[in-house]
Amino acid sequence: MTPLTPTGGTVGHGPHVPEPQPDSVPIDWQRATQAEDRRRVVRWTCQCKPVVYYLITAGGHGHIERTAPGQTTVQSPRLRYAPLADLWELLLLGRAR
Ligand SMILES: [Zn+2]
Repeated sequence: MTPLTPTGGTVGHGPHVPEPQPDSVPIDWQRATQAEDRRRVVRWTCQCKPVVYYLITAGGHGHIERTAPGQTTVQSPRLRYAPLADLWELLLLGRAR
């Protein structure tokens, strides 16, 4: 298992998420639940965009959160690190939405 360590940019600047491609994989976004103990934000996308994604780990799993002004924060299903890292890559490539 590849550990996810904080390397993704600095606060205020991260990768930009491109427009999703037509064949992108839909993520089963759910209304965000109460924050877990020991959650760590290890990746985030650029905060100059209205929609910001965060990759969050807690214990042996994690999820992606999506925030947008005026919208309820939503989160992806919980995943183990490897599929979570894959999903994050897909998102940054515009291949998940
Ligand atoms: Zn930016």
